[in-house]
Amino acid sequence: MRRVGTSPVQAERDDPAPPALLRLQRKNHLLVAVVLLFGLALHCVVTRSLPPPLIGSQLLASAFFALMGVGVGAGWVPLKWAGTSSGLVGMATFTVFVHLTGGPQSAYFPVFMAVPLVLAMFSPDSRLPTLAGGLASLGSAMIVNVLAQVPPSRMVLQAVNLSTFVGLALLGSSMYRRMLDAQRSAHQERLEALAQLAESERLRRHAERERAEVERLVLVGQLAAGVAHEVNNPLAYVKANLSHLLREGRGVDPDELMLVLAETQQGVLRIQQIVTDLRGFSRVGSLEENERGLVEEALSEASRLASVRLRDRGEVSLALEPGLPAVRLGQRHLVQVVLNLLLNAVDAVEMAMPGGLVRIRVRAWRVEEGVCLEVEDNGPGIPPEVLPRLFEPFFTTKPPGKGTGLGLALCREYVSRVGGSLHAENPPGGGARFVILLPAAR
Ligand code: ADP
Repeated sequence: MRRVGTSPVQAERDDPAPPALLRLQRKNHLLVAVVLLFGLALHCVVTRSLPPPLIGSQLLASAFFALMGVGVGAGWVPLKWAGTSSGLVGMATFTVFVHLTGGPQSAYFPVFMAVPLVLAMFSPDSRLPTLAGGLASLGSAMIVNVLAQVPPSRMVLQAVNLSTFVGLALLGSSMYRRMLDAQRSAHQERLEALAQLAESERLRRHAERERAEVERLVLVGQLAAGVAHEVNNPLAYVKANLSHLLREGRGVDPDELMLVLAETQQGVLRIQQIVTDLRGFSRVGSLEENERGLVEEALSEASRLASVRLRDRGEVSLALEPGLPAVRLGQRHLVQVVLNLLLNAVDAVEMAMPGGLVRIRVRAWRVEEGVCLEVEDNGPGIPPEVLPRLFEPFFTTKPPGKGTGLGLALCREYVSRVGGSLHAENPPGGGARFVILLPAAR
C-alpha cells in the first residue's frame, strides 16, 4: 500500500500557531476594542453630544473586536481569518464613524489618507497590505462621498489625492525593501569573502603540512644512506679489533690490549651517539597538536646549559621583546634547538680562534605569525660551500668523534614539523646567524 506523505507546505499550513503569537493577537484585538470605546468617549465629550447610531455602531464594533480577541487567543478562530475579517470590520467601522461625524466634512476624514502610509510603515517587506489597505481606504472614502452626495468632480480629485498617498506609501516601502536587499547582499558578500578566506587558510595549512611531510620523507631517505655509512666506519674497526683479540688470544700484550679495548669502546660509544641522535628523527608525529613552548624560559635554560661549556671563555647575551607569545614547538624541543645552535656557535668560534672570547647574541621578537628568534656569533661565519649542505643529515666539518652532523638537521626537522622555518646566513658584520621563525601556539 502506498503511504501518502504530508508535503512540507501542507505541514506548514496545518501547523498550529505558536501560543506567543496567539497571545499577541488577542492583546491587539482587545486593544482595538478599547481604543474604539475611548475614541467614541472622547468624541462625545468634545462635541458634547450622544448620537445613538454612532454609539451603537462603535459598541458593536468594539464587541466584535473583543470577541475576536478571545476567539483568537483560545485558538477557535484561525489567525488568517481573524486578520482578514478584522481588517474589513475595522475599515467598515471607521467608514461608518466618518459618515456619522460629518462625512467628507468630518474631522476624521483625512485619516483615510493616512491608512496606506501606516500600513506601509508596519509591513514594509510586502506591498500587499499597503495596496489592499489603500484600495479599501479609497473605497470607503468614495462610499462616504456618495452617501454625502458630493459632486463627482470633487470625488475624482479626492480619489487622485488618495491614490497619490497609496503611491507614496508603495514607493516608500519599495525603497525600504531595496535598501534591505542591498544590505543583505553586502552582508552575504562579506560572509562569502570570510568563507573563502577560511578555506584558503585551510588549504595553506594543508599544503604546509604536506610540504613538511615531504621534507621529512626526503630527510629519512638521506638519513638511511647516512646511517649506513656513519655506523659502518666505527663498526669496521670494532669488528677488526675484536677479530684481532680473538686471533691473538692470551698472547696479547697488556698495553696493547688496553689500547685495543679503548679504541673498541670509542667505536661503540660513537655508534651509541649516532643512535641517540637518530631517535629524534624516529619520533615522527610525537609533536602534539597543542604542544607549546615559552621562548623566554627556553632561551634562559639553553643559555644556562651552554654557559657550562663556555665557563669564562665567553658570554651569551639575550635581548627579548617583552610579552612574547607561547610558540607551537614544545618546551623540550625548543631548548634542544636553541642549545644546539649555541653549542655550534661555541664550536665554530673555538675552532677558528682557540682561546678567543666567544660572543653569542640571541634576540627574539614578535612577528605577525608568531616569534622570530636569532642566534648570532662572532665566529668565522659559514663557508659558502658549506652553506647549502648545512642542514643535511651527517654533514659535519668537525673532526671525527666531535660531530655527528645531525644537530642542524634535527633542529630543522623539529621546527618545520610545527610549521616554522630555520635558515642560516652570514651577516655583513661577520660571524654566522641562524634565524628561526616559530608560529604562535593556538
Ligand atoms: P655537528 O655539530 O655535529 O657538526 P650540525 O648539523 O649541528 O652537526 O652542524 C653541521 C655543520 O654546520 C657543522 O659541522 C659546521 O660546519 C656548520 N656550522 C654549524 N653552526 C655553525 C656556526 N655557528 N658557524 C659556522 N659553522 C657552523
